[in-house]
Amino acid sequence: MAGRAIVVVLGKQGAGKGTQCDRLSENLGIPHVSTGDILRAAVRERTPLGLEVESVLAAGNLVSDDLVNRLVEERFVQTDALRGALLDGFPRTPGQAEALDTFLGEDGIKVVIDLEVSSELVIERLSSRRVCQECGAIYKDTDVAAISGTCERCGGDVIQRPDDFPDAIARRLDTYERDTAPLKEFYERRGLVVTVDGSRSPDEVTADLVEVLKSRDLT
Ligand code: AMP
Repeated sequence: MAGRAIVVVLGKQGAGKGTQCDRLSENLGIPHVSTGDILRAAVRERTPLGLEVESVLAAGNLVSDDLVNRLVEERFVQTDALRGALLDGFPRTPGQAEALDTFLGEDGIKVVIDLEVSSELVIERLSSRRVCQECGAIYKDTDVAAISGTCERCGGDVIQRPDDFPDAIARRLDTYERDTAPLKEFYERRGLVVTVDGSRSPDEVTADLVEVLKSRDLT
């Protein structure tokens, strides 16, 4: 792999970005950087940042560009990110995309993957999604861990995210269409976007993504 491998993963909430970035992170040996995970960890640990953003996250709104840009800039200088990163949930607005160009230089992004799924499918996926509050493991509402409320991986509490309730899901999808979907065009103009059908099984999607990354000399 030549240079720093920055991969941006776009896609609606529930498109499978988190699952796929976890898998690709192992494959590529670069970290999965999810601004949602960083913010949720701050909320869980009740840090000053967490207290500031808790209600914004619960309502399904976006936190400010300044705040998120600062978090990402801090994350980029950590040693594990020097070889690259899989960006999940960032950038999410034109202001964040500009900030990313400033951090990396305009040719810093190697590829932008757009995981495409219909709104109907993400509503179905998000409504039945349960997550471990401790390690972030993802379950379906019908899984034993979700029913018992105990994570099989770490023993943490398995809950429904406050932003996975119907009102918040609707708000997040509106925000995605308004603020984030236009980024696809922004990156298409630079020839960076590869669209992948995210409605298939996780294994099928991973297989396609690995091919895309190979074709860009990233594996
Ligand atoms: P996610 O897990 O990516 O869906 O993010 C969960 C929540 O964290 C979002 O609904 C926002 O409230 C907040 N968030 C995550 N990433 C960003 C971002 N790049 N810009 C603004 N808010 C964000």
